[in-house]
Amino acid sequence: MNADPATLWHATAAAGTRYPAACGESETDLLVIGGGFAGLSAALHAAEAGLRVTLLEAERIAWGASGRNAGFVVPNFAKVDPEAVVARLGPDRGAALNRFAAESADLVFDLIRRHSIACDACQSGWIQPAHSAEALARSQSRARQWQALGRPVEILDRAAVEELTGAIGYRGGWIDRSAGVLNPVGFARGLARAASAAGATLHEESPVISLVQQGAGWLAATGAARISAPRVVLATNAHVGGLLPGLARSFFPLKVFQIATEPLPASVRHRLLPGDQCVSDTRRNLFTFRFDADNRLITGGMHFLGPGADRRVPHAIHRRMARMLGLPDLPPLAHAWSGIASVMPDFLPALADIAPGLTAGFACNGRGIAMTIRLGRELAQWAQGAPLADLSVPSRKISPIVLHGLMQHAPQALLPVSILRDRLDDRKP
Ligand SMILES: Cc1cc2nc3c(=O)[nH]c(=O)nc-3n(C[C@H](O)[C@H](O)[C@H](O)COP(=O)(O)OP(=O)(O)OC[C@H]3O[C@@H](n4cnc5c(N)ncnc54)[C@H](O)[C@@H]3O)c2cc1C
Repeated sequence: MNADPATLWHATAAAGTRYPAACGESETDLLVIGGGFAGLSAALHAAEAGLRVTLLEAERIAWGASGRNAGFVVPNFAKVDPEAVVARLGPDRGAALNRFAAESADLVFDLIRRHSIACDACQSGWIQPAHSAEALARSQSRARQWQALGRPVEILDRAAVEELTGAIGYRGGWIDRSAGVLNPVGFARGLARAASAAGATLHEESPVISLVQQGAGWLAATGAARISAPRVVLATNAHVGGLLPGLARSFFPLKVFQIATEPLPASVRHRLLPGDQCVSDTRRNLFTFRFDADNRLITGGMHFLGPGADRRVPHAIHRRMARMLGLPDLPPLAHAWSGIASVMPDFLPALADIAPGLTAGFACNGRGIAMTIRLGRELAQWAQGAPLADLSVPSRKISPIVLHGLMQHAPQALLPVSILRDRLDDRKP
């Protein structure tokens, strides 16, 4: 029986249902491949709309990035602002994609309430503190752009950032109050339960090993099952592997580490994040932190890889958090894990228009919880007959990144430059 990954979230979430491996021959209206947030949301929304839905997960629900992230629910694009989205996509498509992002966190917390999902969810807000004067100017402009779209966003001065986060030295920042935190494994297991209750058939330990066109639809095969469907959603994210090799070369797979400490004593806990928000700053080598429901401090990030990285990096990240938050007595490391995030070259959500009846959705880019849930709802509309071109997320043919074998290492290779530039920023008055 396949094991769950050893993350904090798998260790602390309520136990999930075991779904049987697929076997035999069957037909369905929508076949979803992948049991992360994108696949679960597509399955839930399509089943609620009355479609016959089958979801196949190679391992277990929330085995991929959906079970390994930090649980920050953030409704914006990590690197691109609303005006830039409109400039790139034009007024109509740009406005649609901005609305897609803006409403995404509300959708997550609505689903949690509607399906009574126990996942320590808290719509407490997300704070982005600015580490330099230039970053402050950029984040104030960013906040104004989301405010202009009617979002519950406020600009924060230096004192407000310090009071809300407990972190010293930031120049100011902004907060989106529709954002929040959750236990992602609890959330994914709750979505799976809701999808199943809505009539979807879920299978774990059922890797799709071939997917071929059959008449006007598709035939997917696992070791023990053959399932045909007129429409297929590939929700495999960075784990697509050899199933569609061109697709695997159309994004950057980024290894990201996460850690959690032992619970903090109440004397320290009350001065950091008293409002339970999550924080990601403006550094190029991003610094993030939040608490879980038991007061464990959580952070993560990219790091230099190489021999022994899985053992070495968590300690380096733990030391960085102690330094950044001025906590020489930070409780020891209790949990460490890593996952693979997919990042699109333009940092925006995208649909791959692979062939008639077959599409793949990517909305990761470090904001995948809110975005993939919203993306799954759009994919359910496509499954009901809406043309791809009518969805809020732009669709395009698969275009593999030139020299992907080399280019996929660029984010890691450029990390020393990012760290150096952050240090130079820190020295500026
Ligand atoms: C360490 C880390 C931290 C992150 N932190 C955050 C955060 O705090 N906030 C945020 O918004 N986003 C964050 N992200 C991004 C977010 O987790 C992802 O964008 C999101 O979970 C992607 O969901 P998904 O459903 O697209 O893919 P996944 O969750 O990766 O699911 C894909 C699934 O497809 C399955 N699969 C693959 N191939 C097959 C096959 N052939 N047959 C059947 N199944 C198959 C895999 O087993 C896997 O379970 C983070 C990512 C990582 C890695």
